[in-house]
Amino acid sequence: MLLNVEQVCKSYGARKAVDGVSFSVRRGQTVGLIGPNGAGKSTTVSMICGLLRADGGSITLDGEVIGQGASAAKQKIGFVPQDLALYEDLSALENLRLFGALYGLSGARLKERCAQALALVNLADRAADLPSSFSGGMKRRLNIAAALLHEPQLLILDEPTVGVDPQSRNAIFDTLEALQAQGRSLIYTSHYMEEVERLADHIVIIDHGKVLADETPAALYQRLPAQAALQVELAGEPSAALLSGVQSLEGVKGVEHNGASLSIALLDTAHAAPVLAWLSGQGNPLLHFSTARTSLENIFLNLTGRSLRD
Ligand code: ADP
Repeated sequence: MLLNVEQVCKSYGARKAVDGVSFSVRRGQTVGLIGPNGAGKSTTVSMICGLLRADGGSITLDGEVIGQGASAAKQKIGFVPQDLALYEDLSALENLRLFGALYGLSGARLKERCAQALALVNLADRAADLPSSFSGGMKRRLNIAAALLHEPQLLILDEPTVGVDPQSRNAIFDTLEALQAQGRSLIYTSHYMEEVERLADHIVIIDHGKVLADETPAALYQRLPAQAALQVELAGEPSAALLSGVQSLEGVKGVEHNGASLSIALLDTAHAAPVLAWLSGQGNPLLHFSTARTSLENIFLNLTGRSLRD
């Protein structure tokens, strides 16, 4: 195990921001930390980086306890904070040189690492430009490059797509996927389930400072009461008998209709074919149908009764 977070707590005055959070990250693994605003994600990752002192619990990286002050363990972490920390009157490359020097790099090694990091985030051709001429997404990518200069084993990104346009968002994903291919470990915080689902092989759901689930995306899907939705367009409005008939079929978790359109929640997609077969024998011709996987976003609603975002 690369990182172990055990029963970590942090209060701000009387408010418990993080209340007994535990999870771990294996080498080469990407863990998505997901929860609504105020769930405690930033506080958790700040403690992992040693920027905030935990009130209780323990955090170990490669077996070494993370505390405050400089340590070898902290050198193994790269942190991309939510707040951008770039010098606007220095070029992209000069910014990186400065960050690299702070990590103790110099000479040919510093030059080489800056070039590699710029190439990885796809900003090599903008090395001489000022960050003030960059979009929000390009600045974020420069921040990612800065966090990678010392070749950390674990890269922690706190909501890296906030305030970023869709094109840059994809460029950030490309960069992160390249890091995954290099075998790097990542922690990615977000309040967007689709982002976490795309990148993470393990999802930690947190709310009110507590872990609600810590599983693979596939295992989380299994916890959804309805994993698939079947949309059916009939020739005419369904009768009450047809609706109750559908409702009683195996694997059907719920039925709603709007005029001649039926929306059927299914335990999983395997139940779509028998439901369609049954419907086609009811004397109300079936004009069109489609199936879709239920969004994993619903798991949060399911666990808390609230949605992930307002
Ligand atoms: P998230 O990153 O999931 O949005 P945070 O870790 O930023 O959540 O915040 C968790 C809780 O702690 C929230 O209720 C937030 O208002 C509170 N909080 C965060 N930072 C501070 C701070 N510096 N002082 C007081 N309260 C804070």
